Amino acid sequence: MKTASPAERFSSPLWRDKALAASALAEMTGLAAQAAALKGGSVNFMEVCGTHTMAIAASGMRRLFPKELRMLSGPGCPVCVTSQGDIDRVLALAAVPGVIITTFGDMLKVKGSKGLDLHAMRERGSDVRVVYSPLDAVALAQAEPGRQVVFIGVGFETTAPVIGGAVARAKKLGLKNFSSTAFFKLVPPALELLLSDPENRIHGFMLPGHVSAIIGLEPYKFVAEKYKVPCVVTGFEPLDILTGINMLLRQVVSGKPSVEDEYFRVVHAAGNPVAQKLLSEVFTVTAASWRAIGTVKATGLGFSRVYAGFDAIKRFKIPYEDAPEPKGCRCGAILLGKALPPDCPLFGKACTPSSAVGPCMVSSEGACAAWFKYGG
Ligand code: SF4
Ligand code: SF4
Repeated sequence: MKTASPAERFSSPLWRDKALAASALAEMTGLAAQAAALKGGSVNFMEVCGTHTMAIAASGMRRLFPKELRMLSGPGCPVCVTSQGDIDRVLALAAVPGVIITTFGDMLKVKGSKGLDLHAMRERGSDVRVVYSPLDAVALAQAEPGRQVVFIGVGFETTAPVIGGAVARAKKLGLKNFSSTAFFKLVPPALELLLSDPENRIHGFMLPGHVSAIIGLEPYKFVAEKYKVPCVVTGFEPLDILTGINMLLRQVVSGKPSVEDEYFRVVHAAGNPVAQKLLSEVFTVTAASWRAIGTVKATGLGFSRVYAGFDAIKRFKIPYEDAPEPKGCRCGAILLGKALPPDCPLFGKACTPSSAVGPCMVSSEGACAAWFKYGG
């Protein structure tokens, strides 16, 4: 038997095979009817990850889902969950004279509470540069010893090890002119926040593939055991998603919630121990400020004592102030699974990708951007 090469395993056309997709959808129709009957007429699953939102929208599969199934977007886009107060702190850093701000491109157009974004700050004279890796920012700090270089670190357990690695490298190099923000959020506490809301109507979680590749399966066990909510770690190809939904539906129908791994070609039960070790060295669990939720203890990562000197917020003494959401924007409700983008009165009218009002329309992983581009 021919063994599939790694490239074939990860991007095989089988993951997009029409006949297999049709058979998965046929199975879904029967399962969704049974699951919905048990859940009062409809069954709601949340795709926690922004890339799942984009993949569902881009494939057009939502239109083929059985009418009883609703896929809700969750708090899985790193840009969208960053609180308005933290966006304001990013803009305050950009206003510090002489500082070079380095960032991934997604952060450029997220507006602060005064209507400015990093793009506008650049037009006003701030030195804001897009980089493709935080290591590029470290290299820039080496090349510009007379300037302070700040990397805008936001995201989840996926981006944190990459940024942690860059900070560890800066420490090894003895760089005194490199620092980063650590606006990192943790996915398992986010799930607990959602589930502890008595108004939540989530019957299952499609769990993020990349985050799970780092943290493994164990941190999700409480969802199935304490809250009795099914979980399936799912990949990003169309058949991954259809299979993941069917696995969730089977758990609902059987009444036996558990944490399953559809994406086992990438995600292992123990996660990535090397990345976990790096995370525990560079960061420590701390309070985090979430859009629409507020500041919640033990839901994020900040710098550990050993790496505290690399915290840009402390170095430049930038205070935190709560700031309101953009007027009329429903990103908060969307992130909590309480609304879909078309429920927002600004969607596609005052708010489009070229003149975004809220972060869910700005980010490449944002739910509003996905619905606008692909129609849901
Ligand atoms: S970083 Fe990866 S796992 Fe997290 S939201 Fe983005 S795509 Fe999903
Ligand atoms: S459409 Fe725009 S204003 Fe409405 S929720 Fe989405 S990002 Fe916010």
